[in-house]
Amino acid sequence: MLQISKYIYFDSAHKNEHKGGKWAQLHGHTFFVEIFAEGSLHSAHGWIVDFSEIKKSITPIINILDHSYLNEIPGLEKDATIPAIEKWFLKQLKEKPWWFKGVRIGIIGDLDFKPRIIPADGVYPELWHFSFESAQSLPQLPDSHPCHHLHGHSYFVKVSSNDMENLPSALRKIYDLLDHHWLNEITGLEKATSEILTLWIVQKLRELNHSPKIVIVQETPSSYCLWKSDE
Ligand SMILES: [Zn+2]
Repeated sequence: MLQISKYIYFDSAHKNEHKGGKWAQLHGHTFFVEIFAEGSLHSAHGWIVDFSEIKKSITPIINILDHSYLNEIPGLEKDATIPAIEKWFLKQLKEKPWWFKGVRIGIIGDLDFKPRIIPADGVYPELWHFSFESAQSLPQLPDSHPCHHLHGHSYFVKVSSNDMENLPSALRKIYDLLDHHWLNEITGLEKATSEILTLWIVQKLRELNHSPKIVIVQETPSSYCLWKSDE
């Protein structure tokens, strides 16, 4: 058996009321969609199928999911959990491409406070790293901009401070303020861009008696904001 798979991501908000707890609050994630393809090798091209063909065939479905509030999508109103999104996804693929073998949807974040050390690498010093899951919108932008609409991210945060040993307990407090929330409802995050969120974390760390040296907030796998102390 020879199989290929392709990952595509979408950034959306949802809530799972029947699950209760923090899952019932409006929050968001960066979701991954992993598409599996199988078949025999094309004699001339030497591949099962072109990765770009896989992407093209599922892009219309991703466009419905991306930068949305999942609970508002017809078919996901009552249940916007991952198994429900997978089922919904298969329904959208009315005619399955010949190479289609299956789909797996998941979330790229840790889904819990799991701080870990990233060793110094010559560019950055040692950093503590954690992730959190929140909803966000940028109401200051025109509604033609996708970020004007309610969506969400799995945010990845990396921090270095003067007190690396005690930093995780401060980061835990910050995690509890941000995780499984709608960021715009938090004082200071009404315009919850990566930049404003990064500066907000710097300020919180100072209030928690840390002197941050570096704060990095990564909103998607391909974009981040860096703050560096002038000292
Ligand atoms: Zn969730």
